Formats: sequence, C-alpha cells, structure tokens
Amino acid sequence: VFDDEKGNLILYKRDHIAFRYEIIRLLGQGSFGQVCECLDHKDNSKVAVKIIKNSKNLASQAQVEIKILKILNENDPNNEQSILHIKDSFIFRNHICIITELLGKNLYELQISKNFCSFPISLIKKFAIQILNAFKFLESLKIIHCDIKPENILLMPNERSKIKIADFGSSCLLSEKIFTYIQSRFYRAPEVLLGINYGCGIDMWSLGCVLVELANGKPLFPADCERELLQLIMEVKGFVPPDMLLQSIRKNKFFNQGEILPDKHGNIRKPLSVKFSEVVPGDYLFLDFVERCLEWEPWKRMTPEEALEHSWIKTHDTENILEKSLPSRLLRRKPFLIKKLV
Ligand code: ADP
Ligand code: MG
Repeated sequence: VFDDEKGNLILYKRDHIAFRYEIIRLLGQGSFGQVCECLDHKDNSKVAVKIIKNSKNLASQAQVEIKILKILNENDPNNEQSILHIKDSFIFRNHICIITELLGKNLYELQISKNFCSFPISLIKKFAIQILNAFKFLESLKIIHCDIKPENILLMPNERSKIKIADFGSSCLLSEKIFTYIQSRFYRAPEVLLGINYGCGIDMWSLGCVLVELANGKPLFPADCERELLQLIMEVKGFVPPDMLLQSIRKNKFFNQGEILPDKHGNIRKPLSVKFSEVVPGDYLFLDFVERCLEWEPWKRMTPEEALEHSWIKTHDTENILEKSLPSRLLRRKPFLIKKLV
C-alpha cells in the first residue's frame, strides 16, 4: 500500500516520483491531495507537483484541470500571462500528478507573514492589473476560473510584486459547466449563491472581495454559512434585486415569503445598514472600482477590459495622500485570524 486512509499518496522527503522528481518539501494540501516542491533530475530544475488523491471523482476533475491548463499553455506559448504553466502530467501509483512551474507563497500566506496588516494600495493595484489581464485572457478562451481567492494567487519567485493565478481545479469552459455550486464561500458570487446562470463575471466578483481583503487584512464577507453570506452582502448592498430573486432557484434557502430567514447564529442583519465606504479603505477611486466588481447583477459588473480602463487603475499612486484610514468602529472588530476553508 502506498496510500494513507484519506487516499493520499504517502510521501517521504528525498523519495522520487516517477523515478525523476525528488521530493523536497510539502507546499500545500487539501481535499484534492498534496502539492510538493520537487527537484526534476532531468534538468535539475525545481518544479511543483500536485498529487491528486486516489479517488474517481477527484481524478475526473483533475482531468478537466489538466485539459484547461493545456489550453492555457497552448495560447500562451511564451509564458507571458499571469497564469500558472503546466509542464507535464501522468499517473503514478494510481495518482494523477500535475507538474507545474514552481511559484512562491500564496497571498494568504503573505498576509499571515505580514500579520494581516493592510497591503499598500499601490501593491494591490499591481496585483489587480495582472489579475485583470489574466481574466481578459481567460475570457478570450471562454474559461471561468471559479475559485479566485488569496490562496490561489501565487507570488513569482525572484520577481517583485509579480503574481500568477493558480489552481484551475474548479475551473471550467463556459460551454461545459458541470457544477452549479462553486467557489469558496467568502468569494462566492450572488448568482452562484442564488442558483442563477453564471459566467465569467463570477471571477470579477471574487476579485472585488480579494482586493478589499488585501486592503483590510481580513475578508470582506467572512460568512460561516450561506445565509450569513447573503446577509453580509445585503448589509452593504441592500436587498437582492427583484429580477434576480425571481430567477433564483435557491431563494427558499434564504427567504420565507419574502422574509429573511435567520442565519445559523440566529441573526438577521438589516439590509443596507452598513455603508460600503465603511468596509472599504482607501480613496474614492478604489471604492468605486470595487463597487463595480461587486454589482449584484453579473451583467452590470465591469468586464476585465473595462476594469483595466477604470480611473483607479489608470491613476498613478502619489504617496497615498487621498487615502483615509478605516473608521475606528471597524478597527475595534475582533481580529480575524483563522480562515475556514470551504
Ligand atoms: P487546491 O485545489 O486544493 O486548492 P492548489 O492547486 O490551490 O490546490 O494548491 C494548494 C496550495 O499549494 C496552493 O494554495 C499553493 O500555496 C500551493 N501551490 C500549488 N501550486 C503551486 C506551485 N506551482 N508553486 C508553489 N506553490 C504551489
Ligand atoms: Mg487552491
């Protein structure tokens, strides 16, 4: 037996995968399997190896991940996009292995190492521009990432402020949507939550959440359950627009004859009781930018092209003179340290 009880391949430092990739250290693990840093003895380069658990469902999802990574590579032969590049894939001891270029810390790990301090707006803007260009590329290929969050945005080693989008394990082609319920909860778009047809706009919603999180050092909508998520969104954005409610096939989970149902803590939050400007730090341009990512209706959200033309992106940062700090009311909220992964 090579597997543990969860279906993970048991790994030892210095062991070789497929007689070629020497295991250096574990980079991450989760419900899918494990990712480790390896030395490729063929050309002495360092790579990342994602080793999927020995499970039928995870294996078929990993095949989609490989298919999408290959499409992305083929359309970016010179590796110019801010998108993780795949090098190889194969099956080793009944586990699908995906070999990719080795990247650095993810943005959640970066937040941990900075004690969840706010990132400078100028850095957040650099990240945003790279992500938006990657979104433009994804949209041109009709690919939805479906899991944009700090854990899936990785720094590039030895390249200041450069990042890449990783983890295409939930992504899909617009024409081949398999799942109706996707995205990690904090970053889940309203159309997914409500069970309405979705498209590339769900990534733009997640991006809005991520940018605010980097600016605040804590998630924008840190919901423990779906009802709490909808209530946190309504708290700043007001009630769900009637046209969306009409289309929702999941509305009974949240409302009873139009009345808001309590979340799992027994709470009901009042729609529009918190101003957007109270939860978003920075200047009015940043506020406007994230508001346009966080439109209820996906068709009202900015497209990546429009976002790249937004004044917040176009304006060069002078030394953040316009920035205001967060209202003290929010600073007094208990610090958010441990993030539950969905
Ligand atoms: P999952 O589908 O479980 O989220 P990911 O592909 O996101 O799997 O990998 C889990 C973690 O492993 C990531 O959050 C990241 O920190 C790390 N990781 C993944 N791929 C790489 C890579 N190519 N280089 C460096 N670290 C990586
Ligand atoms: Mg991930």
